[in-house]
Parts: sequence; structure tokens; C-alpha cells
Amino acid sequence: MAKQYETVIGLEVHVELATKTKIFCGCSTEFGGAPNTHTCPVCTGMPGSLPVLNKQVVELALEVGLAANCEINQYCKFDRKNYFYPDNPQNYQISQLYLPICHDGKIEIDTPIGKKSIRIHEIHMEEDAGKLVHDEWDDCSYVDYNRSGVPLIEIVSEPDMRNADEVIAYLEKLRMIVQYLGASDCKLQEGSMRADVNLSVREVGNPNFGTRTEMKNLNSFKAIARAIEGERERQIELLEEGKTVLQETRRWDDNKESSYPMRSKEDAKDYRYFPDPDLPPVVISDEWIAEIRKKQPELQPEKKLRYQTEYQLSEYDADLITGTKKIADLFEETANLCKQPKKAANWIIGETFRLAKEKKMEPEQISYSPEHLAKLIEMTEAGSITQTVAKNVFFHIFEEDIEPEQYVKQHGLGAVSDSSELEAIVKMVLEENPSTVEQYKAGKEKVVGFLIGQAMKKTKGKGNPGIISKMIKEQLTK
Ligand SMILES: [Zn+2]
Repeated sequence: MAKQYETVIGLEVHVELATKTKIFCGCSTEFGGAPNTHTCPVCTGMPGSLPVLNKQVVELALEVGLAANCEINQYCKFDRKNYFYPDNPQNYQISQLYLPICHDGKIEIDTPIGKKSIRIHEIHMEEDAGKLVHDEWDDCSYVDYNRSGVPLIEIVSEPDMRNADEVIAYLEKLRMIVQYLGASDCKLQEGSMRADVNLSVREVGNPNFGTRTEMKNLNSFKAIARAIEGERERQIELLEEGKTVLQETRRWDDNKESSYPMRSKEDAKDYRYFPDPDLPPVVISDEWIAEIRKKQPELQPEKKLRYQTEYQLSEYDADLITGTKKIADLFEETANLCKQPKKAANWIIGETFRLAKEKKMEPEQISYSPEHLAKLIEMTEAGSITQTVAKNVFFHIFEEDIEPEQYVKQHGLGAVSDSSELEAIVKMVLEENPSTVEQYKAGKEKVVGFLIGQAMKKTKGKGNPGIISKMIKEQLTK
């Protein structure tokens, strides 16, 4: 019988914190900008320059740690991780090894077989490196230090995940927590959230872990899922051939759907860590922690419950809407403006999600204003536009954020409720479809729907369907 294998996965997730300035200097953290314009002697590693810790970095790290049920090291320190690479001007990275700010947390995820707890080993603060730009045309590399010194937290999980679905569920949960806290925008494409996957396989029943590899360069959830499958297969193949898995760092090439080795995986000892002599220990008082707990914003579980009670949403709808803070905010503002939460929820779960999916947009990229959706809902409820027209107008709200009242006026889309106009149309439809009228009179009442449809078509979707339906039925029973 073929051997059965189990995949064991742990994640190291880097999140860029949403501070205005860098972790150890006053330079801007803004993404982009001309190369080397957001720099100073500190973040370019000039001899004699001294780092000063940004207090907000500690606060955001604490916020994430508390939300992820971590213990806090109230006395924590920074250490130097020594290595040479041109994107790292000091030849060391300031990080935390011995006393990271948070440890021993957990995050709960939903799996097909119920809730599962993923343990968090630690969260530490560190600085980001610069960026190398390889110019193949000129056959040279440039270095941009704008990102050097941007604050990061690294969230290290225990090897508690067993497949790609659990990994994605964990990352989505983590991203949701961090976004709800406003600690980062967590854009995988822009690199403000990056996940390295540590993966090993072992025979089912074996209590010992196999040799793990680390995969880098994963910039979408789909790439992560593909990389996990690819690496799992590669390792099983090696074991089946009686070969050994090497402990190494591999780069996933999503286009080729395969990985290749970058370097043998280092251990902490390879980096010659030692406490950074330029930075004093960080002492976190009970009062400071209490203050942060107090100002913690409403997180997803509480928001979801509140939407069910305050707005009478079903659990399913509340779950979908609170999936990202962006959508939750959009819903809540719309609902409060038009006082029709169920209708607001329907427009978001229905048309908004449908269009976003069609255009492959992330929730954060949806940019229409809640005022315009609220107005559209009011107009539809008042009967001044039909459902069909509303759908068309919504498309333009979604695309260009148009003001619906003006748009309807400009394009002559107002609902036709004028009875003489509608009566003429109904008459015409009945004359054009004598056989359908016969069918109706012979007892096939269902065909009335077809006649209403024909009349709506003649009004270009603007006819009030209620009035039309009433008129047709009256005519037919005459
Ligand atoms: Zn700087």
C-alpha cells in the first residue's frame, strides 16, 4: 500500500505597519517616491548615526498582539541580526530575538471540520530592508533605500497548519484583524503583507517532523496555495525515491509553478545575534497596556453580532459584510443614511460583490460613496425608478461614483407611472400577442408574466411594473 503523508506548515508573516514615519528615524514611509528620497543618515546606515524608536510602532505591535491573544513581554529588547546584503546598509537588521514584544498567542480559524486554533509563537518588531532593482538591460543593479527602516512586525506561527486551505484561512483571519485595527493595509501585491511558508512532510502517524524548507516570494493567496501543493509534491517525491529533503530557502516561481533553491536555510546562530547597544530596552507598563485595550476598535466578531441585532441581518449576511473592514464601513454608512439596512446589505452582497468579482477587484479597491448607494435605495423605494433602472444606475455608481438623482434626470430614466401612457402600451402589447391572450383566457394564467415583460420592454424598463401588471390583468378579465 502506498504511504500516506501529512503536510506540516508554519508561517512567518511580515506586516508593514501603517505609521507615517520609519521605525528609527523621521523619514516618510510612503510607498513609491523617487529612489532614495525618503532617506537620512540613520536609514542609510551612516556610521555614527543613532536610531530612536518610534513609539507608535510599539503601540501597533501591542494592538495586534492583544487582538491575537498574545502574552506581552513588558520588558523587551532589540537585537542585531548580522548579515551582508546590498539592500541592508548597516550590515545588520535591527530585530528582536531574545525578548520579542509578544509571545504565545492564538488565532481561531474555521475549517470544514469545525474551529481550529493556530498558535502564535511570537510577534516581533523589526525594520524593513531597502530594495534592489535589477536592470537586465543595463546589466546592473540599483539600490533604493526608501523602504529601509519601514517598520515591520513579524508574526511567527507554530507549525499547526496541515493544508493550503488552513493556511489561507489563517492569513485571511490575520489580515482581517490587522486591517480592523488599522495597523496596516495588508496589501499582498504591494508587499505590505508578505508570507513565508515553512513546510515539511511526514508519514501519517510519525510524531517527528520532517526536514522543512522555507518558501519566499509569494504575493497572492493563489500563489501561496499553488506553492504549497508544488512543494508538498516535490518533498514526497524525494522521500519516495529514498532521498533526503535539504533544509533550505526556496523561491517560488508562480509562472513556472515550481520552486528553486535560493540558499541553504540559516539558523539563528548563523546571524550572530547580539543585543543592540544603541537602543535601550522597551518597558511596557500595565497602564499602557490597559490604555491600548481600552481604545481597541470593534473587531469582526463583535461587529458581526451587532449587525445581527442592530440591523437584523442574517448571520450569513453579517458574516459576508464584516469580512473586510472596508465593506463593513460601506454597509454601515449606507444603512445609517437610508435607514434600510436589509436593502443596503442586498446591494452590497449582490451587485457590489458580483461586479467586484467580475472585475477581479479587492474589496479595498471599491470606491463608490455610501451617499450615492443610499440615495439609489431611497429612489427605488419611493418608486421614482424601477428595479431594472436601479440596477443600470448602480453600475455607473460602482464604476464612476455618479450621483444617482442627477444621472436619472439627465438620462430620462425616471419611472413611468403615467396611466395614459402605460395604458396605450398595454393595449399595444395585447394586440400584438393575440395567441398569448387566448392562452390566458383558456386558463393558462402563467402567460401574464410574458405580457408584463413585453410591456416593460416597450417602456425600456422604466414602466412601473406594479401598475402595468394591474392594467394587463384588468384588460384580460374584461
Ligand atoms: Zn531615515
